[in-house]
Amino acid sequence: NKFHFINKFRKMERTYIMIKPDGVQRGLVGEIIKRFEQKGYKLVAMKLWSPPREFMEKHYADLSSKGFFAGLINYMTSGPVVSMVWEGANVVLEGRKMLGATKPTDSAMGTIRGDFCIEVGRNICHGSDSVESANAEIALWFPDGVSEWDSCESAWIYE
Ligand code: GDP
Ligand code: MG
Repeated sequence: NKFHFINKFRKMERTYIMIKPDGVQRGLVGEIIKRFEQKGYKLVAMKLWSPPREFMEKHYADLSSKGFFAGLINYMTSGPVVSMVWEGANVVLEGRKMLGATKPTDSAMGTIRGDFCIEVGRNICHGSDSVESANAEIALWFPDGVSEWDSCESAWIYE
């Protein structure tokens, strides 16, 4: 389908990006959305809400054995999050680069985490780490699907 390849070099993908409760509380919603918009990615789903604890535990199920898991779930359910799906060529990996490394002390300046946070337990944003986890996360967070629309910019962003 047309979302998978725009040409043989570019693979169209979708990724799940979430602004965590600290990002919302600190007024960074616009800044984070702005960076994805200005890069050229297309927003195909977005909502602000406070999912229940069990839902967040499902999202982070692969970390359930970690010592920081309970603290992580407390943090992630301490206020509303902004859930988004962004679409574009290689957006899963490129989106992770835009967020920066998990630990803000390892995040390059110029990345979202590098520029706006200090501690791993308050690192303001989430992004899917592979196409497979993106598909699973999008299905979990947006079970009704995403918006299919054509951006008037695409001919100016892709060759
Ligand atoms: P991500 O994919 O870059 O978000 O990193 P992970 O999937 O490994 O971890 C998910 C989230 O758990 C991170 O974004 C952090 O908020 C949190 N986290 C990861 N490692 C630690 C840790 O060592 N301590 C604490 N307090 N939180 C952590
Ligand atoms: Mg992760």
